[in-house]
Amino acid sequence: MSSDAPVILITGGSRGIGAATARLAAAQGYNVAISFVSNEAAALTVAADVRAAGRQALAIRADGADPQEVARLFAEIDQKFGRIDVLVNNAGVIAKQSRVEDIGFNRMQRIFAVNAIGPILCAQQAGKRMSTRYGGRGGVVINVSSSSARLGSPNEYVDYAASKGALETFTTGFAKEVAKEGIRVNCVRPGHIYTQMHADGGEPGRVDRVKDTIPMGRGGQPEEVARAILWLASAEASFVTGTFLDATGGK
Ligand code: NAP
Repeated sequence: MSSDAPVILITGGSRGIGAATARLAAAQGYNVAISFVSNEAAALTVAADVRAAGRQALAIRADGADPQEVARLFAEIDQKFGRIDVLVNNAGVIAKQSRVEDIGFNRMQRIFAVNAIGPILCAQQAGKRMSTRYGGRGGVVINVSSSSARLGSPNEYVDYAASKGALETFTTGFAKEVAKEGIRVNCVRPGHIYTQMHADGGEPGRVDRVKDTIPMGRGGQPEEVARAILWLASAEASFVTGTFLDATGGK
């Protein structure tokens, strides 16, 4: 185990794409911090897997939509690791499939707070630590959007799609703002991926229902998105910033 290892924070790392990214990051040599909100047992399992790979792990309960909890999350990373090299803004929520006229105000606020504002709060904290402007050594931010930002998700979750659109515009602006400060900022757009998120939308079998609409004819696995995220985080992507990488099977 090396304390010189780079440190990656993956928000929403207890399940799905975030958990797959945490496990792959450990295999690639990162020390790993993850955040979660409700499922502590799942988060601790991911942390144990990171340690089993010979890396250090930190699992912190922190609602990405709460500025104080986000500040505490980064303070705990400072205390344990003393550095942060990569931020993956992965935490996201969806809600029951609905038409626009049936979407309630509280739901709209929560979707935008977690999916759009939360990543900006985390980027503020990471940017202050990474930027050469403040004496940092640089870093990478990867925002996890969705192909829904392009497609709009009619009759399902237009509010969710719109929140991802906001995240994408934030990606473009923040990438340009910090490009000369050693920070690369990019975005991954997953398509239909087998995770528990679809159950939260009210249709656990959604990926199999829609898979014939995907040019490759199948849904994706969380690990296939994790590999795209970690390529953008790597030095292999050293001249890549402000861009969008679709992991959608062609949709
Ligand atoms: P998931 O299986 O539902 O997992 C979501 C993760 O986010 C969990 O670890 C959850 O923690 C955490 N989380 C939820 N609200 C949070 C909050 N307020 N603060 C911090 N963490 C929070 O989701 P997924 O399918 O892996 O999706 C990951 C990302 O990919 C999301 O941004 C999603 O929009 C995007 N995406 C997914 C798909 C897909 O088909 N699955 C497609 C396109 C884009 P707890 O377990 O503690 O609740």
